[in-house]
Amino acid sequence: MRVLIAEDEPVPRLILQSALEKFGHECLVAEDGLKAWEIFQNTREVDVVISDWIMPSVDGLELCRRIRAAEKDGYTYFIFLTALGDKGHLLRGMQEGADDYLAKPLDPEELQVRMIAATRVTSLHRQLTEQKAAMFEQARRDPLTQLGNRLRLNEDLEVLRGRVERYGHSYCAVLCDVDYFKLYNDSYGHLAGDQTLCTVANTLTKYSRSGDAIYRYGGEEFLLIMPEQSLKTAAAAVDLIRRAVEQLAIPHGANEPLGVVTISAGIATLLPGENKTTDTLLKEADTALYHAKESGRNCAVVCGDVAPE
Ligand code: GH3
Ligand code: MG
Ligand code: MG
Ligand code: MG
Repeated sequence: MRVLIAEDEPVPRLILQSALEKFGHECLVAEDGLKAWEIFQNTREVDVVISDWIMPSVDGLELCRRIRAAEKDGYTYFIFLTALGDKGHLLRGMQEGADDYLAKPLDPEELQVRMIAATRVTSLHRQLTEQKAAMFEQARRDPLTQLGNRLRLNEDLEVLRGRVERYGHSYCAVLCDVDYFKLYNDSYGHLAGDQTLCTVANTLTKYSRSGDAIYRYGGEEFLLIMPEQSLKTAAAAVDLIRRAVEQLAIPHGANEPLGVVTISAGIATLLPGENKTTDTLLKEADTALYHAKESGRNCAVVCGDVAPE
């Protein structure tokens, strides 16, 4: 484990460091609380802090408070060093967030015992943090296509809206829908349908630009967010994607005249200064998609434009 030592007296500091290193731990050493706080802020993953109580500038209690307040996902096991016969303040230290204490002068066996508990608690916290991150990720991903789902989209749209308002950014929203997909399922079966949805999703990912984001919007509908693009450049990018899907040449007999899987798309934009909600933006993309369907499918329509013949 990585242990941060905060101790202003050189001899006990050295004894503690060499004992910890002997037990196989990595040490970061600070000669006062302020230095320890700086090291803590600049170092990823300090597992354990062993801190003296009385130190100049930032004392042990203040260091403990700061560390607890700064913690986000991880957990830092905090052990106070305290002189024998001076345990009066321990209750306060534990209430402020310390996990354990060690008596001075240091007994190496006692240290080893404390470090066993610290290792156990730290690894439990690490597991919890990893599980939490995995669940967070899982809740935002569509299990079939591995794309972001509606929850992730809604969160991302919030962030984007903030950027439009704060920094004057703009973006396009593109709603893509697989043509006559119900008939595809009817002809080839639901499993083949699932497989085709994955293939289309991969193609959207492969042919979109690096800054774009793609979500599974609904059953056979995908939403592309294209930041910093005009309707014109977005339309050109979408047409590339549409053609890439067509060129996959996945047989779809009921989708005439080509007889292969195709998508239709509706494109809308959100510009800075516009008082447009994300709901309105998505409705505009949906209306444009409706026009694309009306005008024969396998095409993209830009919101406000007349559908192509
Ligand atoms: P249109 O060209 O007008 O979009 O016609 P469509 O048949 O694609 O549209 P409709 O909304 O009538 O049907 C969508 C179909 O998509 C119906 C549903 O069975 C299918 N679908 C939705 N989600 C899934 C899925 O996860 N897997 C499979 N295999 N099919 C799905
Ligand atoms: Mg001291
Ligand atoms: Mg649909
Ligand atoms: Mg469809």
